[in-house]
Amino acid sequence: MNKIELKSLLADRTLGTPTGQVVRLLSERGALSAAQIARLSGLAKSTVSTTLSDLRRSGVVVETAEADPARTGGAGRPATMLSLNPDAGTCVGALIGLREIQVIVADVSHAIIASHTEVMDEDYSPAEAADVIRALVRRAYREHALSTAGLLGVGVAIAGPVNPRDGRIQRASVVPTWAGTDVREVFGPLFQRPIFIDNESNCAALAEMMWGAAQGHEDFVLFKIDLGVGGAIVHGGRVLTGVAGGSGEFGHMTIDPTGPLCRCGNRGCLELTASFKPFLRLAQNRFRRALTPEDVIDMARDGDVGCRRLIIDCAEAAGHGLGIIGTIINPPLVVVSGRMVRAGDLLLEPLRQSFERHTLVKNDDVPPESRTRFVPGRFVENDSVLGAVGLVLRHQAYAPV
Ligand SMILES: [Zn+2]
Repeated sequence: MNKIELKSLLADRTLGTPTGQVVRLLSERGALSAAQIARLSGLAKSTVSTTLSDLRRSGVVVETAEADPARTGGAGRPATMLSLNPDAGTCVGALIGLREIQVIVADVSHAIIASHTEVMDEDYSPAEAADVIRALVRRAYREHALSTAGLLGVGVAIAGPVNPRDGRIQRASVVPTWAGTDVREVFGPLFQRPIFIDNESNCAALAEMMWGAAQGHEDFVLFKIDLGVGGAIVHGGRVLTGVAGGSGEFGHMTIDPTGPLCRCGNRGCLELTASFKPFLRLAQNRFRRALTPEDVIDMARDGDVGCRRLIIDCAEAAGHGLGIIGTIINPPLVVVSGRMVRAGDLLLEPLRQSFERHTLVKNDDVPPESRTRFVPGRFVENDSVLGAVGLVLRHQAYAPV
Protein backbone atom coordinates (compact mmCIF):
# COMPACT_ATOMS: atom_id res chain seq x y z
CA MET A 1 0.00 0.00 0.00
CA ASN A 2 1.38 3.42 -0.86
CA LYS A 3 0.59 7.01 0.09
CA ILE A 4 -1.91 7.45 -2.71
CA GLU A 5 -3.93 4.56 -1.34
CA LEU A 6 -3.88 6.11 2.14
CA LYS A 7 -5.37 9.27 0.63
CA SER A 8 -8.16 7.31 -1.02
CA LEU A 9 -8.84 5.34 2.16
CA LEU A 10 -9.18 8.57 4.16
CA ALA A 11 -11.41 10.07 1.50
CA ASP A 12 -13.62 6.96 1.33
CA ARG A 13 -16.83 8.20 2.88
CA THR A 14 -18.58 4.87 2.53
CA LEU A 15 -16.33 3.22 5.15
CA GLY A 16 -16.91 0.05 3.20
CA THR A 17 -13.89 -2.10 3.95
CA PRO A 18 -12.40 -3.00 7.35
CA THR A 19 -9.12 -1.47 6.11
CA GLY A 20 -10.91 1.82 5.41
CA GLN A 21 -12.59 1.77 8.82
CA VAL A 22 -9.36 1.08 10.72
CA VAL A 23 -7.42 3.77 8.83
CA ARG A 24 -10.18 6.34 9.38
CA LEU A 25 -10.35 5.52 13.10
CA LEU A 26 -6.59 5.88 13.54
CA SER A 27 -6.66 9.12 11.56
CA GLU A 28 -9.42 10.53 13.80
CA ARG A 29 -8.12 9.27 17.14
CA GLY A 30 -4.33 9.11 16.85
CA ALA A 31 -2.93 6.10 18.73
CA LEU A 32 -5.22 3.18 19.62
CA SER A 33 -4.82 -0.40 20.78
CA ALA A 34 -6.29 -3.29 18.75
CA ALA A 35 -8.93 -3.76 21.47
CA GLN A 36 -9.93 -0.08 21.26
CA ILE A 37 -10.17 -0.32 17.47
CA ALA A 38 -12.45 -3.36 17.77
CA ARG A 39 -14.66 -1.60 20.32
CA LEU A 40 -14.91 1.69 18.41
CA SER A 41 -15.42 0.13 14.97
CA GLY A 42 -17.66 -2.75 15.97
CA LEU A 43 -15.49 -5.07 13.87
CA ALA A 44 -14.66 -8.58 15.14
CA LYS A 45 -11.35 -8.81 16.98
CA SER A 46 -10.09 -11.38 14.46
CA THR A 47 -10.93 -9.01 11.56
CA VAL A 48 -9.12 -6.14 13.31
CA SER A 49 -6.12 -8.39 13.93
CA THR A 50 -5.87 -9.48 10.27
CA THR A 51 -6.41 -5.93 9.00
CA LEU A 52 -3.75 -4.51 11.33
CA SER A 53 -1.27 -7.20 10.29
CA ASP A 54 -1.74 -6.23 6.64
CA LEU A 55 -1.48 -2.52 7.40
CA ARG A 56 1.67 -3.00 9.52
CA ARG A 57 3.30 -5.18 6.86
CA SER A 58 2.69 -2.49 4.24
CA GLY A 59 4.04 0.22 6.55
CA VAL A 60 0.83 2.26 6.80
CA VAL A 61 0.44 1.46 10.52
CA VAL A 62 3.26 1.41 13.09
CA GLU A 63 3.66 0.78 16.82
CA THR A 64 3.98 3.90 18.94
CA ALA A 65 5.59 4.56 22.31
CA GLU A 66 2.36 6.00 23.65
CA ALA A 67 0.83 3.80 26.36
CA ASP A 68 -2.85 2.93 26.51
CA PRO A 69 -4.05 5.08 29.42
CA ALA A 70 -6.68 2.49 30.28
CA ARG A 71 -3.99 -0.10 30.90
CA THR A 72 -1.25 1.83 32.68
CA GLY A 73 -1.25 1.24 36.40
CA GLY A 74 -3.48 -1.78 35.95
CA ALA A 75 -2.62 -5.44 35.96
CA GLY A 76 -1.11 -7.23 33.01
CA ARG A 77 1.07 -6.31 30.09
CA PRO A 78 0.39 -2.86 28.57
CA ALA A 79 -1.44 -3.10 25.23
CA THR A 80 0.51 -2.33 22.07
CA MET A 81 -0.53 1.06 20.75
CA LEU A 82 -0.72 1.65 17.03
CA SER A 83 -0.95 4.75 14.90
CA LEU A 84 -0.75 5.64 11.23
CA ASN A 85 2.86 5.83 10.06
CA PRO A 86 3.98 9.47 10.50
CA ASP A 87 5.74 9.16 7.12
CA ALA A 88 2.49 8.18 5.42
CA GLY A 89 1.01 11.65 5.15
CA THR A 90 0.83 15.23 6.42
CA CYS A 91 -1.99 17.72 7.01
CA VAL A 92 -1.99 21.50 7.07
CA GLY A 93 -4.19 23.55 9.39
CA ALA A 94 -4.54 27.31 8.93
CA LEU A 95 -6.32 29.97 10.98
CA ILE A 96 -7.49 33.11 9.20
CA GLY A 97 -7.63 35.31 12.28
CA LEU A 98 -8.55 38.95 12.73
CA ARG A 99 -4.95 40.19 12.81
CA GLU A 100 -2.91 37.03 12.35
CA ILE A 101 -2.55 33.89 10.31
CA GLN A 102 -1.45 30.69 12.03
CA VAL A 103 -0.29 27.57 10.22
CA ILE A 104 0.36 24.11 11.67
CA VAL A 105 1.76 21.12 9.81
CA ALA A 106 1.03 17.76 11.43
CA ASP A 107 1.47 14.17 10.39
CA VAL A 108 -1.19 11.47 10.37
CA SER A 109 -0.01 10.11 13.74
CA HIS A 110 -1.25 13.48 15.16
CA ALA A 111 2.28 14.80 15.86
CA ILE A 112 2.81 18.51 15.20
CA ILE A 113 5.80 19.01 12.94
CA ALA A 114 5.81 22.79 12.52
CA SER A 115 3.88 25.82 13.72
CA HIS A 116 4.14 29.39 12.42
CA THR A 117 2.28 32.64 13.04
CA GLU A 118 2.29 35.77 10.88
CA VAL A 119 0.91 39.08 12.16
CA MET A 120 -1.37 40.74 9.58
CA ASP A 121 -2.89 44.18 9.07
CA GLU A 122 -6.59 44.32 9.83
CA ASP A 123 -8.90 43.62 6.84
CA TYR A 124 -6.31 41.74 4.80
CA SER A 125 -7.62 40.25 1.56
CA PRO A 126 -8.06 36.57 0.60
CA ALA A 127 -5.22 36.98 -1.94
CA GLU A 128 -2.86 38.24 0.80
CA ALA A 129 -3.89 35.35 3.05
CA ALA A 130 -3.21 32.87 0.25
CA ASP A 131 0.29 34.31 -0.29
CA VAL A 132 1.13 34.17 3.42
CA ILE A 133 -0.19 30.64 3.89
CA ARG A 134 1.62 29.36 0.81
CA ALA A 135 4.88 30.90 2.08
CA LEU A 136 4.46 29.52 5.62
CA VAL A 137 3.61 26.03 4.35
CA ARG A 138 6.56 26.01 1.93
CA ARG A 139 8.88 27.14 4.73
CA ALA A 140 7.61 24.41 7.07
CA TYR A 141 7.99 21.66 4.46
CA ARG A 142 11.47 22.88 3.49
CA GLU A 143 12.71 23.22 7.09
CA HIS A 144 11.56 19.72 7.95
CA ALA A 145 12.55 18.13 4.63
CA LEU A 146 8.99 17.00 3.98
CA SER A 147 7.59 16.10 0.60
CA THR A 148 4.40 17.91 -0.37
CA ALA A 149 3.41 14.71 -2.20
CA GLY A 150 2.30 13.38 1.21
CA LEU A 151 -0.04 16.33 1.87
CA LEU A 152 -3.52 14.90 2.43
CA GLY A 153 -5.51 18.09 2.73
CA VAL A 154 -5.69 21.62 4.12
CA GLY A 155 -8.04 22.63 6.94
CA VAL A 156 -8.99 26.29 7.23
CA ALA A 157 -10.47 27.88 10.36
CA ILE A 158 -12.02 31.27 9.79
CA ALA A 159 -13.50 33.95 12.04
CA GLY A 160 -17.01 33.92 10.66
CA PRO A 161 -19.83 31.53 9.77
CA VAL A 162 -19.06 29.23 6.84
CA ASN A 163 -21.83 27.66 4.79
CA PRO A 164 -21.23 23.90 5.05
CA ARG A 165 -22.90 23.29 1.66
CA ASP A 166 -20.68 25.43 -0.53
CA GLY A 167 -17.76 26.54 1.66
CA ARG A 168 -18.66 30.21 1.30
CA ILE A 169 -18.12 32.67 4.12
CA GLN A 170 -21.39 34.16 5.26
CA ARG A 171 -21.99 37.82 6.05
CA ALA A 172 -18.63 38.03 7.76
CA SER A 173 -18.81 40.41 10.67
CA VAL A 174 -15.23 39.79 11.74
CA VAL A 175 -13.43 39.72 8.41
CA PRO A 176 -15.64 42.04 6.31
CA THR A 177 -13.58 41.81 3.13
CA TRP A 178 -14.07 38.04 3.05
CA ALA A 179 -17.89 38.04 2.87
CA GLY A 180 -19.11 35.76 0.08
CA THR A 181 -15.63 34.31 -0.54
CA ASP A 182 -15.45 30.64 -1.55
CA VAL A 183 -12.48 29.47 0.52
CA ARG A 184 -11.92 26.48 -1.76
CA GLU A 185 -11.42 28.80 -4.72
CA VAL A 186 -8.76 30.71 -2.79
CA PHE A 187 -6.76 27.74 -1.50
CA GLY A 188 -7.68 24.88 -3.83
CA PRO A 189 -5.44 26.01 -6.73
CA LEU A 190 -2.51 26.58 -4.33
CA PHE A 191 -2.41 23.09 -2.91
CA GLN A 192 -4.33 20.89 -5.38
CA ARG A 193 -5.70 19.01 -2.39
CA PRO A 194 -9.08 18.81 -0.62
CA ILE A 195 -9.80 21.98 1.39
CA PHE A 196 -11.78 21.63 4.63
CA ILE A 197 -13.39 24.74 6.14
CA ASP A 198 -15.22 25.64 9.34
CA ASN A 199 -15.47 28.64 11.61
CA GLU A 200 -12.84 29.14 14.30
CA SER A 201 -15.03 28.27 17.30
CA ASN A 202 -16.22 25.03 15.68
CA CYS A 203 -12.56 24.18 15.03
CA ALA A 204 -11.70 25.01 18.66
CA ALA A 205 -14.41 22.59 19.82
CA LEU A 206 -13.00 19.89 17.54
CA ALA A 207 -9.50 20.40 19.00
CA GLU A 208 -10.85 20.14 22.57
CA MET A 209 -12.74 16.97 21.63
CA MET A 210 -9.80 15.32 19.87
CA TRP A 211 -6.96 16.29 22.21
CA GLY A 212 -8.16 18.58 24.98
CA ALA A 213 -10.63 19.12 27.80
CA ALA A 214 -13.51 17.32 26.04
CA GLN A 215 -11.63 14.14 25.12
CA GLY A 216 -14.00 11.23 25.47
CA HIS A 217 -17.08 13.51 25.41
CA GLU A 218 -19.51 13.44 22.52
CA ASP A 219 -21.93 16.06 23.84
CA PHE A 220 -20.75 19.43 25.08
CA VAL A 221 -20.85 23.16 24.53
CA LEU A 222 -17.77 25.29 23.96
CA PHE A 223 -18.06 28.84 25.27
CA LYS A 224 -15.26 31.21 24.40
CA ILE A 225 -14.67 34.42 26.37
CA ASP A 226 -12.06 36.73 24.91
CA LEU A 227 -12.37 40.19 23.32
CA GLY A 228 -15.37 38.59 21.58
CA VAL A 229 -17.68 35.76 22.58
CA GLY A 230 -17.76 32.59 20.48
CA GLY A 231 -19.14 29.11 20.82
CA ALA A 232 -19.90 25.71 19.40
CA ILE A 233 -22.35 22.91 20.07
CA VAL A 234 -21.15 19.32 19.82
CA HIS A 235 -23.75 16.56 19.68
CA GLY A 236 -23.02 12.87 19.15
CA GLY A 237 -19.37 13.64 18.43
CA ARG A 238 -20.25 16.07 15.61
CA VAL A 239 -19.89 19.82 15.70
CA LEU A 240 -23.25 21.30 14.69
CA THR A 241 -22.94 23.71 11.79
CA GLY A 242 -26.59 24.56 11.14
CA VAL A 243 -28.13 24.85 7.71
CA ALA A 244 -26.06 27.92 6.75
CA GLY A 245 -23.12 27.62 9.18
CA GLY A 246 -24.59 29.87 11.88
CA SER A 247 -24.90 27.33 14.70
CA GLY A 248 -23.38 28.14 18.10
CA GLU A 249 -22.87 31.87 17.48
CA PHE A 250 -23.56 32.55 21.17
CA GLY A 251 -21.95 36.00 21.11
CA HIS A 252 -24.73 37.26 18.86
CA MET A 253 -27.74 36.16 20.87
CA THR A 254 -29.87 39.27 21.42
CA ILE A 255 -29.92 39.93 25.15
CA ASP A 256 -31.32 43.46 24.95
CA PRO A 257 -33.26 44.33 21.76
CA THR A 258 -32.96 48.04 22.56
CA GLY A 259 -29.26 47.80 23.43
CA PRO A 260 -26.28 49.20 21.52
CA LEU A 261 -25.63 48.31 17.90
CA CYS A 262 -23.38 45.28 17.44
CA ARG A 263 -20.79 44.83 14.67
CA CYS A 264 -23.09 42.08 13.29
CA GLY A 265 -25.87 44.63 12.65
CA ASN A 266 -28.20 43.49 15.43
CA ARG A 267 -28.67 45.27 18.75
CA GLY A 268 -27.83 44.25 22.31
CA CYS A 269 -25.85 41.07 21.47
CA LEU A 270 -24.36 39.05 24.34
CA GLU A 271 -20.87 39.84 23.08
CA LEU A 272 -21.34 43.54 23.89
CA THR A 273 -21.68 42.80 27.60
CA ALA A 274 -20.05 39.40 28.13
CA SER A 275 -16.80 39.66 26.18
CA PHE A 276 -13.88 41.15 28.11
CA LYS A 277 -13.66 44.14 25.74
CA PRO A 278 -15.81 46.61 27.74
CA PHE A 279 -14.13 45.54 30.98
CA LEU A 280 -10.67 45.96 29.49
CA ARG A 281 -11.68 49.49 28.51
CA LEU A 282 -12.68 50.21 32.13
CA ALA A 283 -9.34 48.87 33.37
CA GLN A 284 -7.44 50.97 30.84
CA ASN A 285 -9.34 54.07 31.94
CA ARG A 286 -8.45 53.39 35.53
CA PHE A 287 -4.75 52.64 34.98
CA ARG A 288 -4.39 55.16 32.10
CA ARG A 289 -2.40 52.77 29.91
CA ALA A 290 -2.90 50.07 27.28
CA LEU A 291 -3.57 46.67 28.90
CA THR A 292 -4.14 43.12 27.72
CA PRO A 293 -6.64 40.72 29.31
CA GLU A 294 -3.61 38.89 30.74
CA ASP A 295 -2.44 42.12 32.48
CA VAL A 296 -5.83 42.45 34.18
CA ILE A 297 -5.80 38.77 35.20
CA ASP A 298 -2.30 39.16 36.66
CA MET A 299 -3.33 42.22 38.67
CA ALA A 300 -6.46 40.42 39.89
CA ARG A 301 -4.30 37.50 41.04
CA ASP A 302 -2.04 39.96 42.86
CA GLY A 303 -5.09 41.06 44.82
CA ASP A 304 -6.25 44.16 42.94
CA VAL A 305 -9.89 44.46 43.99
CA GLY A 306 -10.92 46.48 40.92
CA CYS A 307 -9.48 43.93 38.47
CA ARG A 308 -11.16 41.09 40.35
CA ARG A 309 -14.45 42.94 40.14
CA LEU A 310 -14.11 43.35 36.36
CA ILE A 311 -13.54 39.60 35.90
CA ILE A 312 -16.53 38.81 38.15
CA ASP A 313 -18.74 41.24 36.20
CA CYS A 314 -17.66 39.64 32.90
CA ALA A 315 -18.42 36.19 34.34
CA GLU A 316 -21.82 37.41 35.55
CA ALA A 317 -22.78 38.64 32.06
CA ALA A 318 -21.40 35.52 30.36
CA GLY A 319 -23.29 33.31 32.83
CA HIS A 320 -26.51 35.07 31.83
CA GLY A 321 -25.95 34.00 28.21
CA LEU A 322 -24.79 30.54 29.21
CA GLY A 323 -27.89 30.15 31.37
CA ILE A 324 -30.04 30.61 28.27
CA ILE A 325 -27.92 28.05 26.41
CA GLY A 326 -28.30 25.73 29.41
CA THR A 327 -32.08 26.12 29.32
CA ILE A 328 -32.16 25.26 25.61
CA ILE A 329 -29.55 22.49 25.44
CA ASN A 330 -28.95 21.37 29.05
CA PRO A 331 -25.43 20.18 28.15
CA PRO A 332 -23.50 17.72 30.36
CA LEU A 333 -20.29 19.69 29.86
CA VAL A 334 -19.29 23.28 29.15
CA VAL A 335 -15.71 23.84 28.00
CA VAL A 336 -14.86 27.46 28.77
CA SER A 337 -12.16 28.74 26.45
CA GLY A 338 -10.63 31.98 25.22
CA ARG A 339 -7.95 34.02 26.94
CA MET A 340 -10.13 34.86 29.96
CA VAL A 341 -10.01 31.21 31.04
CA ARG A 342 -6.47 31.96 32.23
CA ALA A 343 -8.15 33.65 35.23
CA GLY A 344 -9.08 30.13 36.43
CA ASP A 345 -11.55 30.05 39.31
CA LEU A 346 -11.56 33.86 39.49
CA LEU A 347 -13.69 33.56 36.34
CA LEU A 348 -15.13 30.04 36.53
CA GLU A 349 -16.63 30.26 40.01
CA PRO A 350 -18.76 33.39 39.41
CA LEU A 351 -19.56 32.01 35.93
CA ARG A 352 -20.96 28.81 37.47
CA GLN A 353 -22.97 30.83 39.99
CA SER A 354 -24.39 33.11 37.31
CA PHE A 355 -25.24 30.11 35.10
CA GLU A 356 -27.01 28.50 38.04
CA ARG A 357 -29.11 31.63 38.62
CA HIS A 358 -30.09 32.00 34.95
CA THR A 359 -30.71 28.43 33.82
CA LEU A 360 -33.83 26.32 34.32
CA VAL A 361 -32.52 23.10 35.89
CA LYS A 362 -30.81 23.91 39.20
CA ASN A 363 -28.03 21.85 40.76
CA ASP A 364 -30.14 21.14 43.85
CA ASP A 365 -32.88 19.61 41.64
CA VAL A 366 -30.72 16.82 40.26
CA PRO A 367 -28.09 14.26 41.35
CA PRO A 368 -24.43 15.24 40.78
CA GLU A 369 -24.09 13.13 37.60
CA SER A 370 -26.96 15.10 36.00
CA ARG A 371 -25.41 18.52 36.62
CA THR A 372 -23.71 20.60 33.94
CA ARG A 373 -19.95 20.53 34.56
CA PHE A 374 -17.66 23.46 33.71
CA VAL A 375 -14.06 22.85 32.73
CA PRO A 376 -11.41 25.19 31.34
CA GLY A 377 -10.29 24.54 27.74
CA ARG A 378 -6.85 23.05 27.28
CA PHE A 379 -5.76 25.17 24.33
CA VAL A 380 -5.83 28.94 24.46
CA GLU A 381 -3.51 30.30 21.75
CA ASN A 382 -3.88 27.63 19.09
CA ASP A 383 -7.20 25.81 19.58
CA SER A 384 -8.69 26.88 16.24
CA VAL A 385 -5.65 26.08 14.10
CA LEU A 386 -5.33 22.69 15.83
CA GLY A 387 -8.99 22.06 15.03
CA ALA A 388 -8.28 22.95 11.40
CA VAL A 389 -5.77 20.06 11.37
CA GLY A 390 -8.52 17.97 12.98
CA LEU A 391 -10.87 18.78 10.09
CA VAL A 392 -8.43 17.08 7.72
CA LEU A 393 -7.75 14.10 10.03
CA ARG A 394 -11.48 13.53 10.44
CA HIS A 395 -12.31 14.40 6.86
CA GLN A 396 -14.95 16.74 8.21
CA ALA A 397 -16.47 20.00 6.91
CA TYR A 398 -15.47 19.20 3.36
CA ALA A 399 -17.72 20.58 0.65
CA PRO A 400 -16.64 18.85 -2.58
CA VAL A 401 -16.14 21.20 -5.52
ZN1 LIG B 1 -23.95 40.77 17.23
